[in-house]
Amino acid sequence: MRKWRLNKLNMILETRAAAPFFKNGFVVGCEDTREGILIDPGDEVSELLAAVKAHKLAIRYILLTHAHIDHITGVGAAKRALGVPAGLHRADHFLYKAIVQQGQMLGVPVEPQPEIDFFYEGAGPWRFGNYGAWVYHTPGHCPGGVCLAVGREEEAARTLFVGDTLFAGSIGRTDLPGGDLDTLLRSIRDVLFNFPDETVVYPGHGEPTTVGNEKRTNPFLG
Ligand SMILES: [Zn+2]
Ligand SMILES: [Zn+2]
Repeated sequence: MRKWRLNKLNMILETRAAAPFFKNGFVVGCEDTREGILIDPGDEVSELLAAVKAHKLAIRYILLTHAHIDHITGVGAAKRALGVPAGLHRADHFLYKAIVQQGQMLGVPVEPQPEIDFFYEGAGPWRFGNYGAWVYHTPGHCPGGVCLAVGREEEAARTLFVGDTLFAGSIGRTDLPGGDLDTLLRSIRDVLFNFPDETVVYPGHGEPTTVGNEKRTNPFLG
């Protein structure tokens, strides 16, 4: 797989994706302290864990953008390997607990995952080294979808991890349980498009983009 590197900071950032969903999982780390977070560990979890090891990172949290099956199948393996808590928005707990049924709907056998350790309360931040991950509730693709704005605490610049809310040239589907198109468009316009145009956006599937690029060219948001 290609490894995307668009961030202008020195932040450690590794992306992996694996069959069958090719959903992006992320390792993000502080280059000063070697503390980090894991975002959305799925079927590529062993590759994420290898990246954690290669960078000699001490992971503090597993942070989930939402609880669709492709974003959570690696939570158990990550928790066993790292011994750290996993967080989710409370409004997606019903999806998380229904992972086996989600798999049945898609014809993909999956194991139940260990219980979530904490629900996001407010924006955070969840700190790792000199960095923080600020949580923004962005429902529409699912009720508990969040975007994570990650950056150094003392600097304004953030990198967005948006789950399946926004893609390069597209938007998240809204036909799954709890999805709603108007809500999704509002989340994108009122939350994500409030970040500066140069803000780099890492979606849950496919290539990274920027806020400005999507404002200008995304056909769903014209
Ligand atoms: Zn999803
Ligand atoms: Zn997804």
